[in-house]
Amino acid sequence: MEAKWYEEGLKMIEELTSNAEQIQDDLLKGILSRNAGTQYLRRFLHGQTDKQYFKENVPIVSYEDLKPYIDRIANGETSDILLAEPITAFFMSSGTSGGQPKLMPVTAEVAQLWAMFRTLYESPVMKHFGDLNKSGKRMEFMFARPEIETPGGLKATSVTTSIFKENGFIAMLPKLYTSPVETIFCPETQQSLYCQLLFGLIQRGEVAMVGSFFAATVLRAIKFLENHWQEMCSDIKTGQISHRITDIGCRNAASLIMKPNPALADLIEDICNSKSWEGIIRKVWPKARYVGCICTGVMEQYTTELEFYSGGLPLVSALYASSEAFCGINLEPLCKPSDVSYTFVPNMAYFEFLPVKNDGNEYIEMGSKNEVTETVDLVNVKLGHCYELLVTTSRGLYRCKIGDVLMVTGFHNNAPQFQFVKRQNVAISVDQEKTSEADLFKAVTEAKALLDPIGFILTEYTSYADTSSAPGHYVLFWELKEKEGNHCTEPDPKIMVECCVRMEESLHYTYKIYRKKNIIAPLEIRVVKQGSFEALMDYYVSKGASFSQYKRPSCIKSKEALKILDSVVIGKFFSPKPPL
Ligand code: AMP
Repeated sequence: MEAKWYEEGLKMIEELTSNAEQIQDDLLKGILSRNAGTQYLRRFLHGQTDKQYFKENVPIVSYEDLKPYIDRIANGETSDILLAEPITAFFMSSGTSGGQPKLMPVTAEVAQLWAMFRTLYESPVMKHFGDLNKSGKRMEFMFARPEIETPGGLKATSVTTSIFKENGFIAMLPKLYTSPVETIFCPETQQSLYCQLLFGLIQRGEVAMVGSFFAATVLRAIKFLENHWQEMCSDIKTGQISHRITDIGCRNAASLIMKPNPALADLIEDICNSKSWEGIIRKVWPKARYVGCICTGVMEQYTTELEFYSGGLPLVSALYASSEAFCGINLEPLCKPSDVSYTFVPNMAYFEFLPVKNDGNEYIEMGSKNEVTETVDLVNVKLGHCYELLVTTSRGLYRCKIGDVLMVTGFHNNAPQFQFVKRQNVAISVDQEKTSEADLFKAVTEAKALLDPIGFILTEYTSYADTSSAPGHYVLFWELKEKEGNHCTEPDPKIMVECCVRMEESLHYTYKIYRKKNIIAPLEIRVVKQGSFEALMDYYVSKGASFSQYKRPSCIKSKEALKILDSVVIGKFFSPKPPL
């Protein structure tokens, strides 16, 4: 009998994880022998390709260190200053550098690597839930991001968008997914989401999984359904798509699929009309076996609500990947989101691990305080220890930090398994955007300049990621003081609204894109009474923070701390329009 594709995938996982050390060493050797002559590596390697020499001489870097090379290539220089293979495009990461998206070189090998990674991360999932390719369709919410062209003529887009553009993906879409390609590439997110939900409802009997890349998107989609199901049911009843959909591609796709189906509309109406939406995903899509989306890291904040809607369907986080490299797969798809570990795949990149010390809530890089430290190889990491991940790829990243802290939770054969601990240097995030303390500080600095002419000073601020409603939004708590006198009158609301606008305009590229697409809701400033930040400090000190070393958090995570600030709010102001 013909072996199932995912059984082949499972076999491959066993082979790769059993030979992790050899595969890693061979991979590095290959990368160095091909790239040692590039302008970047030549300076450090002088033609050597030995692993030890590489570790002793090539510096550990972050994106900023490689950026001058990447920028030169983006501006038209040949890619061999950094990597031997020709660059075919760039991935735009959700991380930013100086307000601009980070650009990661892409070469021809990426498509093959992704195809293999996809087989590997889907195999354990199919083992548990059966072969979805045979038994139904995936209702995955997918959104292509805009593509930009660099001055040198190379295209830059997100990893997911580049996957959506692959011919192989487009060819299998009608058979395996409920969303037509036109809806994925529709530039209007709201229209795209409306159509993807509508087509998912029409094909409800075939839907075998519901999902998206990240948990936040699934939640956003369900909440959108909560607000629009009546309209969608009316579309299904009449076989005509709502006038709100003006995108030609979406309307054409609808005309191919839709015909009047009053019985289906009534059925969905009945389900959606129920008082509680608990378990709605299971009720609307009764054949769905799981909800597939990343639920770890910053997405963990959405799991409780998603569990409410999913009605006991397992939430499956299948993979851990970034624009820099595809990294790990989840071998236990039924595991609770808080317990998920990712097994590293040794042929995806050469991985090194920089030990970090867990110092309370701070993860401090060892070696950052004059301690000499060495990176640890993939197979030599220690159970229970935390590390920052470095990758070396044949795509021009050499010992590059990707900014994630991971903890070793076990091994599968010889490949370690990691829990995602946190993202370094991210203060606030409500979706995939990453806003650092420095990003926040810059935006606050720009905005508070507006207070000066009206005689106010910003004395303290902090932030909070409010995800209680979808989409989530940034809340800034501001404590103000009048320049003259001690009592504080309310500042001019018009100026405060202007401060919200200025903040959004001063935030980074990814924030602005997400805001324009309504993936992030309007930024809010909550002005608090004078003395509120002292009360906040008292709270943290009462919880064990050192009085002398107290540093106000750049983002509030604790519910109690939030309560303290929320109880003293004297004014709330929202940005009225997306930033330019
Ligand atoms: P990007 O480069 O924009 O694709 O973002 C990649 C980043 O998203 C990673 O470096 C992680 O910080 C985060 N990420 C990706 N997959 C996961 C996951 N499974 N769990 C937690 N965070 C993740």
